[in-house]
Amino acid sequence: MLIVQKYGGTSVGTLERIEAVAKRVAKAKEDGNDIVVVVSAMSGETNKLISYAENFSNNPKQREMDLLLSAGERVTSALLSIALNEMGYPTVAMSGRQAGIRTDKFHTKARIESINRLCIEKEINGGNIVVVAGFQGVTELGEVSTLGRGGSDLSAVAIAGALEADLCEIYTDVDGVYTTDPRIEPKAKKLDKISYDEMLELASLGAKVLQTRSVEMAKKLNVNLVTRSSFNDNEGTLITKEENIMEQPVVSGVALDRNQARVTLRGVTDKPGIAAEIFRKLSESNVNVDMIIQNVGHDGTTNLGFTVPQNELDLTKDAMLELNASQSVEYDSEIVKVSIVGVGMKSHSGVACTAFDTLSREGINLEMISTSEIKISMVIAAKYGELAVRALHDAYKLDE
Ligand code: ASP
Ligand code: MG
Repeated sequence: MLIVQKYGGTSVGTLERIEAVAKRVAKAKEDGNDIVVVVSAMSGETNKLISYAENFSNNPKQREMDLLLSAGERVTSALLSIALNEMGYPTVAMSGRQAGIRTDKFHTKARIESINRLCIEKEINGGNIVVVAGFQGVTELGEVSTLGRGGSDLSAVAIAGALEADLCEIYTDVDGVYTTDPRIEPKAKKLDKISYDEMLELASLGAKVLQTRSVEMAKKLNVNLVTRSSFNDNEGTLITKEENIMEQPVVSGVALDRNQARVTLRGVTDKPGIAAEIFRKLSESNVNVDMIIQNVGHDGTTNLGFTVPQNELDLTKDAMLELNASQSVEYDSEIVKVSIVGVGMKSHSGVACTAFDTLSREGINLEMISTSEIKISMVIAAKYGELAVRALHDAYKLDE
């Protein structure tokens, strides 16, 4: 098999950890696989480099920042390569440029445009383990670029896609994707498999195992992703196409999003164009509106409710002040969003009913509801968040 293994910052956080990673890579090679390794900077390193730059300037040139930040990943790739070499394995370390990773010209937030697969393939065919510095590439003009924070995941997925690798393993310090946050529900179980779409929903709801952009890219390029821990030998979670998952549970996971606030507008004039004006203001302020509810109007006015991220509430308030209409506005940040996610919902009825029933039996009031094909989200009072997660986890038997 051709396997791309990506090791995050904590996995390569010390020289001992790099040594441990070298042993894991060697083991995969001994098992008869071709291996491409993608590494992050040692944990804390990127932040340290940023603070060095800030020591001199509040507004450093983005081009120089890229040259600076790309160094963190290069250090790790060279060190891991040296360690593996010493263990007797032929290796080649590469920067993003040497690995043929071309990006657009937007420094510090570049997007990968293409990968010249021959650069890595040539070395693999020569029997080498290739160790690529993640998080970086090169622009058309030969300038070093970086992909935005957390971008090494993207490097790994893009390389796996370009090489048509059999597997892309993302090593972190957690065992994989869980049915819910084990700190809230100790009975949470690690999932063996989950589909791209479910993972995208969970990631956008705050499950921080994987960067959302890299899951999107994996889906697009059809890369089989596994997230697992580099600190033990437990099998991780496979993120793959829906068709590859034989037994679809109705619900795969429960998520709790605490970073939500609700805005209620009362007495909104009920005529065409008003909602457009309100949400245009919000989008101009770069506020990410999530759920929206409009009531059936009467007397020529209506009520409109929506949720925004809590840290965008101040922006929201400013935007609402700019509206020249007569509605009154209320804000409530004592709310949370609980969601259940599962592709099985598409083919099962009664899933929503079970959720509503479960919460009502706990005496929890549903303040807002929204659904998609594979998700049901409910806004409830913040103090019931954890209780709701445990009750739902139980109701869908996720601990079995
Ligand atoms: N080192 C970069 C960061 O800290 C990229 C990465 O770790 O994925 O954001
Ligand atoms: Mg990272």
